[in-house]
Amino acid sequence: MRIANYQDRAVLLTPDGAVDIETSSRGQFGPTMRDLYDHWDSFHVASSTLTLAPAFEVDEALLENPSPEPRQVFAIGLNYRSHANEMGFTVPSVPATFTKFPSCLAGPYSTVTLSGDTVDWEVELVVIVGRQADHVAVEEAWSHVAGFSVGQDISDRTIQKAAGQQFSLGKSFRGFGPIGPCLVTLDEFSNPSNLVLDCKVNGIEVQRDTTASMIFSVPELISELSNVLTLYPGDVIFTGTPSGAGVARTPPQFLKSGDILESSIEGIGTIRQLVA
Ligand code: ZN
Repeated sequence: MRIANYQDRAVLLTPDGAVDIETSSRGQFGPTMRDLYDHWDSFHVASSTLTLAPAFEVDEALLENPSPEPRQVFAIGLNYRSHANEMGFTVPSVPATFTKFPSCLAGPYSTVTLSGDTVDWEVELVVIVGRQADHVAVEEAWSHVAGFSVGQDISDRTIQKAAGQQFSLGKSFRGFGPIGPCLVTLDEFSNPSNLVLDCKVNGIEVQRDTTASMIFSVPELISELSNVLTLYPGDVIFTGTPSGAGVARTPPQFLKSGDILESSIEGIGTIRQLVA
């Protein structure tokens, strides 16, 4: 399934257009994405038996963040060897975890207002949790995932390095966490552990790799995090970025007003940010 947040309602994206989930389930699921995540397991089971309501045309530009109200947002640093190397860090033995505060999240086609002159890009696979997770074993972890989205972990490198390290603050300016364009469930992928991701600035490719290069896989991240705390349906996990970040370039390259930032993942889609 491809599920989107359209005008505050959870909709299925089908070849014929969007289908409202609350109407199709006669009020059992939805109307919002938050409602859907709160009953994700039953929805997932019932989804194949829905009587689909009439499809309608969506204005793609109006799609919103597929998890607009997560209780928690996690981000993993240095989860690709190539990025750890370019940043001059050794590869960590446990996931380097920080938060992007939920108020920084934005939809797939948003405007990012620069916080300074060292604002950088990081394309990332975003995992959205579908089932509460406590002490989950790696082998059980996939069943706790609702699906994937494309995310950008936009980062103010100056604030990120201020006062020792301020990762969470430097990566949480308003609009620094765009997600979308929809939630794609795992059954849509032939191999959910090997998806090409790339990032372009003004049409020029700056990052390209595959999620198979992640140091800690999605199941390992779910397991590690759930050993420390409870993961809730709708929670968002940014899983790290490959090499090609602007700060590591020679000379360094940062976002400037007027730039178009495009981030894509195979089988999910593309999000697009205008920099202002
Ligand atoms: Zn990141």
